[in-house]
Amino acid sequence: MPTTARERAAQRPKIVLAGGGHAHLHTLRRTADLSRRGFEVTLVNPSPYLYYSGMATGVVSGVYTPEEDRINVRRLAEAGGSFVEGRIRTVHPQDRALVLEDGRTVPYDAVSFCLGSTTPREATRNDDVFPVKPVENAAEVNRRLRHARDSNRFVKLLVVGGGAAGCEVAANALALLERQGRGGEVIMAERSGSLLGGASARARRSIEAYLERRGVRVLTNTEVVSYGSGRARTADGRLLPYDLVVLAVGIEANGGVFRASGLPVGPCGGLWVDRTLRSVADGRILGGGDGISYRGLGLPKLGVFAIRQGPILYHNIQAVLRDEPLRGYEPQKRFLYVLNFGDGTGLAVYGPLVWHGRLAWKLKNHIDRRFMAEYDGNP
Ligand SMILES: Cc1cc2nc3c(=O)[nH]c(=O)nc-3n(C[C@H](O)[C@H](O)[C@H](O)COP(=O)(O)OP(=O)(O)OC[C@H]3O[C@@H](n4cnc5c(N)ncnc54)[C@H](O)[C@@H]3O)c2cc1C
Repeated sequence: MPTTARERAAQRPKIVLAGGGHAHLHTLRRTADLSRRGFEVTLVNPSPYLYYSGMATGVVSGVYTPEEDRINVRRLAEAGGSFVEGRIRTVHPQDRALVLEDGRTVPYDAVSFCLGSTTPREATRNDDVFPVKPVENAAEVNRRLRHARDSNRFVKLLVVGGGAAGCEVAANALALLERQGRGGEVIMAERSGSLLGGASARARRSIEAYLERRGVRVLTNTEVVSYGSGRARTADGRLLPYDLVVLAVGIEANGGVFRASGLPVGPCGGLWVDRTLRSVADGRILGGGDGISYRGLGLPKLGVFAIRQGPILYHNIQAVLRDEPLRGYEPQKRFLYVLNFGDGTGLAVYGPLVWHGRLAWKLKNHIDRRFMAEYDGNP
């Protein structure tokens, strides 16, 4: 029978949340409940903050400040558990321990991974090229665009990639340049034949018409292959001048930790999990968000999927430790996606339904603000 506080703490099953991503927010809000139920909870994340992607492109236009766009995950963790600031390098399932980049180890009885996604490695980076991930880059893009204004320069922004993130960045950058009243040019380069590749034909036509009407130069069938000295080179030999590049060329699962640990990953690179979001190799390892491969499939890399996985992870990580039945996760078939254009309008897409206007933006702003309020905004 344990007598000292230290002995009692040593007997409490250890839940470790590896990465403070969107799929962990549900559990992070309940660390005090978990503690009351007898668990010891630890969050490991490189920063005390998680930047909320839904409002990130609004940071480019200045609709939101970077501080409005972040959630203090450290504070949530410390409401009932503890926080370790650090980056995970590997997991040792046989020892039930995470190893951090600085060599520290964090023991667990059950661990849930939510490490998100990253811009593909081959996407060239230099001082003037910013990937959309991590989303906190939005603040730097905003700063650069404002700085160009302050130095009275006509700014040329090249957005590479015409998916939802690229379209939002282009529209928000343009909104900022227009508000500043200085000249600026926004070019979008997209490798395929249209913007918003996976969306309905109506949504694709709507976004292209909108961006062109606003003055964005949309170049489809244009693959950028290199950057340097203010010029991007395309596969067919054209040169596109730029002051600043935003890379929105798609994101891939942050799978390095799993590969380095010998855990099975799916074709998309994410931790291979079953219906209950447990690793197919080890029942004490769970995962959610962009960094998993659900039953071997890559789900759309969207926060709405990560958020829906949150309650399943919360239930299952406790069930694993108590040997209770686990819940299955079913990805939603349809979901609402609203693009923010930074000019007070938005484009709502729900399956085949498409709707552009002020109401779409108001709806998005309302949903995002309400979501952030749940986590208490953030100082
Ligand atoms: C510009 C942009 C706009 C978007 N807009 C929307 C939108 O409007 N709606 C929507 O549904 N989706 C949107 N998305 C997609 C959304 O960002 C992702 O689907 C969502 O963030 C995935 O959440 P996650 O929980 O997997 O990871 P994330 O929320 O990305 O969090 C991962 C966390 O893990 C941490 N981490 C990473 N590596 C390590 C490590 N080795 N050790 C410890 N911690 C680590 C990171 O620092 C981070 O805190 C957008 C994406 C982009 C790029």
